[in-house]
Parts: sequence; C-alpha cells; structure tokens
Amino acid sequence: MKNWEKYIRKVEPYVPGEQPENTDVVKLNTNENPYPPSPKAYEAARDFDFDRLRLYPDPEAGVLTEEIARRYNMSSDRIFVGVGSDDVISMCFMTFFNSDKPVLFPDISYSFYSVWAELHRVKYEQVSLDENFNIIPESFYRENGGIIFPNPNAPTALYMELEKVEDIIRHNQDSIVIIDEAYIDFGGKSAIEFVDKYDNVLVVQTFSKSRSMAGIRIGYAFGSPALIRALNDVKFSFNSYTMNAYSLVCGSAAMADEEYFNECVAKIIKTRENAKSELTRLGFEFPDSKANFIFAAHRSVPAAYLFEELKKRGIYVRYFNKPRIDNYLRISVGTDDQMKKLFYALEEIIDGCNSGLKA
Ligand SMILES: *Cc1c(COP(=O)(O)O)cnc(C)c1O
Repeated sequence: MKNWEKYIRKVEPYVPGEQPENTDVVKLNTNENPYPPSPKAYEAARDFDFDRLRLYPDPEAGVLTEEIARRYNMSSDRIFVGVGSDDVISMCFMTFFNSDKPVLFPDISYSFYSVWAELHRVKYEQVSLDENFNIIPESFYRENGGIIFPNPNAPTALYMELEKVEDIIRHNQDSIVIIDEAYIDFGGKSAIEFVDKYDNVLVVQTFSKSRSMAGIRIGYAFGSPALIRALNDVKFSFNSYTMNAYSLVCGSAAMADEEYFNECVAKIIKTRENAKSELTRLGFEFPDSKANFIFAAHRSVPAAYLFEELKKRGIYVRYFNKPRIDNYLRISVGTDDQMKKLFYALEEIIDGCNSGLKA
C-alpha cells in the first residue's frame, strides 16, 4: 500500500438508479416525471443569452429565489437554493449536524442519508418503521443531533399526516428537523407552515420530480432566516457559484408556470390511482402511495424475478436487495401508455409463473 493511499477518504457511494443509453426503454426506475418541463422554461432556454456564460452567475441566485418566494408566499431570506435537493441536504448535513449525538432517520428511507452521514463523519442511528412501514413519531423522542425524514417517505411512498410531523418537531425543539418533501406535490400537505412557527425546521423540495426537471439540478429549502444564513455561510465557504446562469433562468421560468405544474401533477395522480387498481388486480400489495411511485410486492412471484423479467422486456423499475424490502418493486408512475405496457408485461410474467407452477 502506498503511503498516500492511507489518506484517501474511504466512502461507499450512493448507487443511483440506472440511466440506460437506450431511449426506447420504459423507464420507471428513478421517479422522474414522464412529462416534459414547462413550455415557459423551454422559451426561457431558447431565449437564453449565451454570452452571459462569460460571466459568473449571481451567487445569491436572486431570480430563482425571488420566484420561489413569490410562489410560496415566503420572504426570500427564508429560502436557500442548491444543485438539486441532494446538494441542499448534503449542505444541511455539513451545516447543522455537528453534534456528538447521533442524527436520526428512518431505517427504511432515502439511502443517501447514511451516505452523507458517513461522508461528513456524522454519527447516526436509524429508527425502525412499524410493520406497515409507517414512521412512528415516538421513536424520535430521544436525544439526537438532528432529524431527517422524507414525507412522503421513500421508497415506501407513505405520507405522514402533518399532526405527526408537528409532534416530532414539538418533541425536538433542541435539534434541527429536516423534512425532505421531494414527493409532497403528489397529494400530501407540505410542512412549510411549520417554518414560520418553529425556528428549528427546514423543509426541502426539488424540481426533479413534480417539475419535470431532474436534469437541470435545482432543489430548495425553506427555513428561518437564521438557518438560511447559516446554510449560505457554508455554501459561500465551499463554492459560491453552485447555481449556474442557465439553471437560474430556466428554473425561475418553470416555477412561474403554476398552471402547467398543476396539470402535470393532476395527470400523474390520476395515472397513479388507476395503477393502484391494476396492480391490485394483478395480485400486488402496496402501502398507499401519495408519491409518483408505488412500492409493491406480489403475493406469489418474487420481486427479484419480476425485476429481471421486466428488464428483459425493456421495462425498468427499481429493486432494492435489502432486508425487509427485498420482495418489493419501486415503480415510478409514467404516462398511461407506459403503464399499460407495464401491466401487460406483468400479466404475461405472472401468468407464465402460474402455469409453470401447475405444470
Ligand atoms: C429524488 C429525491 C431527492 C433528490 O432529488 P434531487 O434530484 O437531488 O433534487 C431527495 N430526497 C428524496 C427522498 C428523493 O427521492
């Protein structure tokens, strides 16, 4: 072993879902939005002044912050923006999770949390969900150095009522509580009201799911001005220009297009509700989803097998080979046409298994 090798930071990276080269696949594996970004964002992109790339972008990300402020009726000193919510949350770990006590998050949750904890050398403990995958607020009644959980949770898609979210906040006034709302626009109620009420709460959202812009990389957080200032201090000590000029312009145009946003979200919810009945008919069970994906287990056919067979047919879903969830598929809600292809393929695979069993 070379001497310098000892000093390399050892991390086990987060593994994102596959991004296949082939664009013909039915891609239901990374919870992207099947609809294009807002036409307003497209116009902004078309009119983007390329010469502006000579200059550094606005380090305060002003146009975008102002547009988010307008949309959510918040003052801009309560808003932080970053390169996707992954960047925002990683920045939060760096800024707020510096206690000797462990940070808490659910044992079945966004698997990036433990990766950031390791990267930033933060102690953490995972609290157990109940047997139906619900978050138990009481499990957060203990000493901690901070709390983070998604609502709706991922990959379960289960939404927790705001009374329970507030209960966790009320019992943890001495810690920072982060609510990761990557999927909140698909039917849940945002905890954004708690940002005014409690100065230890951060609510994080993203352009990647409900706003069809995973590729542009924009996420944002709401919090008290003191928290936002702390985040900005860390950001300016790390990289002042996280938000590029092009993203700022396209992102603010998309944020201003409320009508298109509502239309897309409504379509996805409708497709999801239909998918629930189709999957039930095919013999699947799943926690009730308030997200743009469904976390489903089949009563007789193992998830690992379904995953491989779907892939052979050009349909990509997500499979996690982890305790308690290794018989589930996480299926993103696509267009009605994509979902029809999925149901058809599932039916074929499941029928094949059933006749195989009889033979
Ligand atoms: C998708 C997702 C994110 C991150 O999304 P970005 O693309 O980085 O904005 C954060 N949290 C959860 C739970 C997610 O599913």
